[in-house]
Amino acid sequence: MAPKPKEFKADFWKTKDFKISIGDIISKEGIESTDESSVVMGPTQKPNVTDLRSWDMKLLERYPPFYSPFCDMCCLCTYGKCDLLNKRGACGIDAETQQARTILLACCIGSAAHSGHARHLVEYLIEKKGDDFPIDLGMDIDIEAPIMRTLIGKKPKVLGDLKEALDYLEEQMVHLLSACHTGQEGNSKDFESKALHAGLMDNLGKEVGDIAQIVALDLPKGDPEAPLVELGVGTIDREKPVILCIGHNVAPGAGIMDYLEDQELEDDLEVCGICCAAIDITRYNHNAKIVGPISKQLKFIRSGVADVIVVDEQCIRTDVLEEAKKNNAVVIATTDKMCLGLPDKTNEDADKIVSELINNQIDGALILNPDKVGEVATKVAMKTSGERSKVQVLPDMDEVVEFAKKCTECEWCVRVCPNSLPMMDAVVAAGEGDISKMEELYKNDVCYSCGRCEQECPRDIPIISMMAKVGEKDLENQKYNVRAGRGPVQDVEVRRVGAPIVLGDIPGVIAFVGCTNYPDGGEEVAKMAEEFLERNYIVVTTGCGAMTLGEYRDEEGNTLYERYSGSFDAKGLVNMGSCVSNAHIPGVAIKIANIFAKKPLEGNFEEIADYILNRVGACGVAWGAYSQKAAAIATGVNRWGIPVVVGPQASKYRRLFLGRTDKEDSWRINDLRKHTEVAGEPAPEHLLYAAETIGEATVMTAKLCIRPNDTSKGRQLKLNHYIDLNKKYFGTLPHDIYKFVRVEKDIPITYKRDVMQILEENNWKPREIPQEPSLMDMKGD
Ligand code: SF4
Ligand code: SF4
Ligand code: SF4
Repeated sequence: MAPKPKEFKADFWKTKDFKISIGDIISKEGIESTDESSVVMGPTQKPNVTDLRSWDMKLLERYPPFYSPFCDMCCLCTYGKCDLLNKRGACGIDAETQQARTILLACCIGSAAHSGHARHLVEYLIEKKGDDFPIDLGMDIDIEAPIMRTLIGKKPKVLGDLKEALDYLEEQMVHLLSACHTGQEGNSKDFESKALHAGLMDNLGKEVGDIAQIVALDLPKGDPEAPLVELGVGTIDREKPVILCIGHNVAPGAGIMDYLEDQELEDDLEVCGICCAAIDITRYNHNAKIVGPISKQLKFIRSGVADVIVVDEQCIRTDVLEEAKKNNAVVIATTDKMCLGLPDKTNEDADKIVSELINNQIDGALILNPDKVGEVATKVAMKTSGERSKVQVLPDMDEVVEFAKKCTECEWCVRVCPNSLPMMDAVVAAGEGDISKMEELYKNDVCYSCGRCEQECPRDIPIISMMAKVGEKDLENQKYNVRAGRGPVQDVEVRRVGAPIVLGDIPGVIAFVGCTNYPDGGEEVAKMAEEFLERNYIVVTTGCGAMTLGEYRDEEGNTLYERYSGSFDAKGLVNMGSCVSNAHIPGVAIKIANIFAKKPLEGNFEEIADYILNRVGACGVAWGAYSQKAAAIATGVNRWGIPVVVGPQASKYRRLFLGRTDKEDSWRINDLRKHTEVAGEPAPEHLLYAAETIGEATVMTAKLCIRPNDTSKGRQLKLNHYIDLNKKYFGTLPHDIYKFVRVEKDIPITYKRDVMQILEENNWKPREIPQEPSLMDMKGD
């Protein structure tokens, strides 16, 4: 492929350090550069911890961190614990800096989880397919790794090339984690800059992981018509032996599917999954089924349907072994992240392991070879399934009532519930023979089975088992679907929609991601997605969020995936895949900058992020974010200039990035076309915003798609949705609408009179629309 023409600004070379790389020498071990010929490398190839600090400081100036500490204490070293309320700790740290340190720690943990996963995948797939296995995403995807190209400055051509990105990010992660040590960084904004770097490493690690598995396991390569796969507790055939995979690493699940295929046993067993492992297994083999998101975990394990539970990594209940023992299910651990104290049987004969497991000689097994996992899990499931079906694992309905009668109405279950759900009322009603309140909590995962209520109940009432039993009544209706994760957006799709997105004709790209820590169940998230789809936005999704969208049916019984196309286009609902596929969300924004605006990628992070922040109307929604991975993901996309709206529980992450509309100077912007700084607007207004209600989140998401680059036609469209939604949820026109009207032509026709009145009340004056809005090359840079 011939090199693409690069369009740097004319004075680019004057203001930045840059170097010209004349194509690295291709060697057996080495990596060749993006092209064999010359590549003009931008200023930040393989940026170190401080290399993008000036960009971070611009973001932090505009979007200052807002901290909401859990407590005023620090207990991290033996000088402590230290009370940081209006004073410093023994090491000299103050409360604000300590909060920022905690954020960095969370981002490091999350980023390491994704990158460790990616390292495992790459090593495993190289072992299977070889270093030289080509990275080929098909004819329609030329920019296969936009994040890697931007940060590493190279195009990966074979699996072995991905190792350079992993080596780089692992080095960065060591430095970042080391900054968390006592007596290192002493400034909150510098901690935040490091957290942004950790988030960026997270994005890179995910991209490496997903690309590796897409090419080596032949997962869909950006296919908008990837098939619909089955989702829901009710889709599992309970008469067959059932293997349940929980976690995020596709390798053991793929090993199981391969073994079933080799042995021609596909029709004899059910293989299903929870969390992203489920999504990725169905990308690999459409015969697998998805039980559902993380919220299904405890209830489904308790239901006893699974004969064998295969766990890999991330977001798995750490008491899975104890829970499995309660119903004689066998646990197989498969990665170094989660060994559960089990004997390492990786090198033992498969039949011997099977024998030890079914004769209860061992509690479970650690097997680090995915192919052997496939054989052992299948044989154990087939041998134990018949016996286990005689074990009554859940209480029957009479027992549910008897358990409920033990309730003393102490209200502990309500007090400890993250959402203060009315579990006590539900239990009391069940004790009177009325299970309707429990059913209400079960539906749509309003109760997401974290199990805290059960842990605290002084009467040892098995609340989750009772919920699982209640849910069994409605199994027939718990059958849904989801489009198999398609992976990245195709370059041709970007060519088609790049202009309408940047000019504002497509009002925005909304990404529904994250977990199920929802304040009031998943249905409201699906309805929010439906709202944006109906309004011509592009909706992308990954992970548990993608499953939640699939669990909602309209009055005709169709899921969102049945109603909307899988194309990256207006009204398209694009399931990219699992958590690691999340990387394709900043990835498509980067592609827009490169394909549509011809911005060079290699070593050119800041210009790309600046372009996205000012011109690509994208916004993430992580309504149920709960993990450190979610913290890293959001922080990473924030650094690319993509804002994120999170749910109320996410305030527990302790930090938001909130813009201050009252500080007009913080919104000044450089018009690169005219080389002048002009008054700007709060667009996007925030980088990380926690909403309390779904209405607030919907309105804010529409607002956060506004960009300085919008044409008047595009701005009219965006303001029309913003006003419409504000009226729908709050009954009024938004009070700040005047801040987003640059010239009269920006005003939506249908609301012209009302908006004009608000403009007059606020002494509004027209202002210049910057032709090339940018935060780069500002005064003082
Ligand atoms: S790290 Fe600092 S603030 Fe924390 S316990 Fe140690 S001395 Fe106290
Ligand atoms: S399981 Fe968790 S979410 Fe459900 S009621 Fe209990 S504490 Fe609340
Ligand atoms: S904690 Fe247990 S006993 Fe107390 S109200 Fe809840 S269910 Fe009843």
